[in-house]
Amino acid sequence: MSPKILNEVDEEVTQLLTSLIRINTTNPPGNETEEANFIAQYLSREGFKTEIVEAAPGRGSVITRLKGTGEKPSLLLLSHLDVVAANPKEWTVDPFAGVIKDGYVYGRGAYDMKSMIAIEIMVIKLLKKNGIKLKGDIVLAATPDEEQGGEEGAGYLLRNHKEKVWCPYVINEGGGLAFPSKKGYVFPVQTAEKGILWLRIKAKGTPGHGSIPNTADNAVIRMNKVVDKLGNYMPKTSYVGTLREFLFEMGKQDRDLKETFSMLLANPEQSEEILDELAKRDRALAEDIRPRTKMTIAPTMIRGGIKENIIPSECEAVFDCRILPGQTIDETVDLIKNLLKDVGLEKLSFEFIQAHAGSESTVDTALYKTMTDVLREFDPDCGVTPTLSTGGTDSRFFRETGSVCYGFQPMIPDEPNDQLEKRMHGIDERITIANLVFGTSVLYETVKRFME
Ligand SMILES: [Zn+2]
Repeated sequence: MSPKILNEVDEEVTQLLTSLIRINTTNPPGNETEEANFIAQYLSREGFKTEIVEAAPGRGSVITRLKGTGEKPSLLLLSHLDVVAANPKEWTVDPFAGVIKDGYVYGRGAYDMKSMIAIEIMVIKLLKKNGIKLKGDIVLAATPDEEQGGEEGAGYLLRNHKEKVWCPYVINEGGGLAFPSKKGYVFPVQTAEKGILWLRIKAKGTPGHGSIPNTADNAVIRMNKVVDKLGNYMPKTSYVGTLREFLFEMGKQDRDLKETFSMLLANPEQSEEILDELAKRDRALAEDIRPRTKMTIAPTMIRGGIKENIIPSECEAVFDCRILPGQTIDETVDLIKNLLKDVGLEKLSFEFIQAHAGSESTVDTALYKTMTDVLREFDPDCGVTPTLSTGGTDSRFFRETGSVCYGFQPMIPDEPNDQLEKRMHGIDERITIANLVFGTSVLYETVKRFME
């Protein structure tokens, strides 16, 4: 029997999302416990036993579990409760009112990621209500602090209460928004993300008078060399498994792209030239792929000097490095130091602002296959592809502890994808009610089939 769109849930999932939006969880400070309590009460009314775990006052997670027989591995439906700030003056509606208008729910978190919280709650509720016999446990956890790195949320839970949340399989944010192709929609499943190394480099020198620069050692000039070396560094191309799969799947969906992507796959050493060529036809696609083929280093902040006529003895700059899954922090720092060996390493100091490795999950699982099968039953023309995010989600904490994580909130675009992505942390964030229903329908069918 082919799955169906669960139109009957539209009112409930919409109301649930508007209620979640109305509790302001802007991080910082977060104050997610209020929302966690709201969810706990909601689930209690449906007969679930829930638990609130706080990493610090106000920084609460809500957790519940639907028991299975234990014949299959457990699955975590993960989400984050916090949102980024919204400036009401820039919006056409109040970002924390949960406005319903023209088939949309508006508000901060409508997309990232309170819609997914609502969908995951609906899924677990429907599984219980419909008396589905589950072969594995399904855990639901909505956590704080993702938008500030997740250390007080998913990170805290795994360090201190692993037994409450850890599952071999995790479904989370980061993928699912379909994009159009020649043959139809392609649904990306996030299977990998790049790691982050935010590095502060300080250059030291000797101060002196600005009118006799030759007697001093100018730290700004030293930093200039650092910025030049790192900013212009061309890292080696290296395709991780996810990117290979992505290029292969995308080639299947579009005959015009197939040739370009086959060339890319066969000639990683020429990736820059091939992507430059592609950019002439489709700039957005080329620039989307480029940062996924290698690590990147971007100088993002610089500061030095205290007065017009003083040669500065100190200058500092911050570099945002994004590394590929498989690349370690240590080897990245070694690489950077090696690039700077001519600049005078003894006069440079290095400080980590944030550092964590990338992560990647295999697509070779029954869960990934179920996702693909279910999507193709809903939309026979669609493609499904794994994707590598350039940014991070809480999935990294779980992948580090051995879980297979997939970013999967299936959505059909209602406007161009770049517009949609801009709304995510931007102005007039919203989601269609149709996508709330679609997401619930696909996720319900996927989880049910995976666990039955
Ligand atoms: Zn998010």
